[in-house]
Amino acid sequence: MADPKKTEKIVGVKGMNDVLPDDAPLWELFENTVQSVLRSYGYQQIRTPIVEPTALFARGLGEVTDIVEKEMYSFTDSMNGDALTLRPECTASVVRSVLEHNLTYDSPKRLWYAGPMFRHERPQKGRYRQFHQVGAEAVGFAGPDIDAELILLCQRLWDDLGLTDIRLEINSIGDAAERQRHRADLISYFEQHHDQLDADAQRRLHTNPLRIMDTKNPAMQELVNAAPKLLDYLGDESRAHFEGVQRLLRHNSVPFTINPRLVRGMDYYNRTVFEWITDKLGSQGTVCGGGRYDPLVEIFGGKPTPAVGFAMGVERLLELMKVAGGDFSRSQCDVYLVHQGDEAQLQSFVIGERLRDAGLDVVLHCAAAGGLGSFKSQMKRADASGAAYAIILGEDEIASGTAIVKHLREADMTNNQQSVSLEALTDHLIDRMIGDDEHDHGHLHAGQLNTHH
Ligand code: ATP
Ligand code: MG
Repeated sequence: MADPKKTEKIVGVKGMNDVLPDDAPLWELFENTVQSVLRSYGYQQIRTPIVEPTALFARGLGEVTDIVEKEMYSFTDSMNGDALTLRPECTASVVRSVLEHNLTYDSPKRLWYAGPMFRHERPQKGRYRQFHQVGAEAVGFAGPDIDAELILLCQRLWDDLGLTDIRLEINSIGDAAERQRHRADLISYFEQHHDQLDADAQRRLHTNPLRIMDTKNPAMQELVNAAPKLLDYLGDESRAHFEGVQRLLRHNSVPFTINPRLVRGMDYYNRTVFEWITDKLGSQGTVCGGGRYDPLVEIFGGKPTPAVGFAMGVERLLELMKVAGGDFSRSQCDVYLVHQGDEAQLQSFVIGERLRDAGLDVVLHCAAAGGLGSFKSQMKRADASGAAYAIILGEDEIASGTAIVKHLREADMTNNQQSVSLEALTDHLIDRMIGDDEHDHGHLHAGQLNTHH
């Protein structure tokens, strides 16, 4: 017997989730859709490491941000003393990589990434410690055109995913000098109302007063609503840029509202900022945030290079897809191979490979702890797999060079099986599946036969 103390179950890290097989089809559908939308706008994928030097985020995000102040998974590499951090976001990594490999030496770049991010937050619905983002970064582009393109790209993605309850809010936070003038007026405004500031706001008053505008505290809403608006401090160029974005959005029929209080969490943003928000997910309703970050490349030691991007929260979008409804389940395979006897097992392997060559998804029944099991128990597995067909091979079939093809999803179960010669088996199945498919959905091809969306 094993020592009971040693066999105690170990559970995963709090706030970090497993994606289980039942949810995998939804993730795959999302990932495939995202990839094809990004490609349709000419964005190229970039993959950076999950671990980066801590200094990258401290410098890139600004010291006085939620992330850097209290959310980073930072640690010292015990082998060499390096200060490292699990990436809390990916813009800093992308910009680092662009500079390190001089990616923009000949032309601006449209880039995208996807993957896990890590923030030590209080776990709750829509807020996790490991979560996933898909993001795009357009590096080297200066005009309002690319800002609008990124927003349009998001709109197309929501459309392709069947999501309708997402609205767009935009704002301009100007450039550093404009924010400086606004900041001075904002501080004196908040100082005049010091007694109404919560602890967070008091702490931020002189470090990052703009972030007070971002407060979620209901008691401060009125105060914040009446505060000086950054939009009123924009100079001609910033205003023209913002108007350019709006003109393109209107021209492309993308509805939006201007939210003068919208600021983004990170210090490096300037000019255009935007968020996509839904009311269907409770308080974790921001599914995507983005904006311009023209100063960042220079902060990282590169020559001045304008840039703009967004990041979307995959878990929140998947939740929204579930709320919107639809069947995202998927069968495990097209065909399940049931067999009894040594010869039949050998033949099943041959048939399995042949069907896979023809593009079908095939599960071959394999022995569990109790062995292969009876025909009956194998048929139960075949049913549970969601396969459209079982192929059955027993001693009689081997003797006559045939297999039984059994339709598992037919309404009329009395006349649902047929003996087919082994040579004709592949063609027979393909023909029938194409027939079923035209009947069911019209025009999908073999590789998609078992995808029901
Ligand atoms: P929030 O205000 O919700 O904390 P944020 O401003 O910190 O969001 P960003 O850094 O802009 O978020 O990240 C972009 C998107 O990533 C968010 O809009 C959200 O959809 C998602 N996201 C951010 N943090 C988390 C998290 N801890 N768990 C799940 N998704 C997250
Ligand atoms: Mg946050």
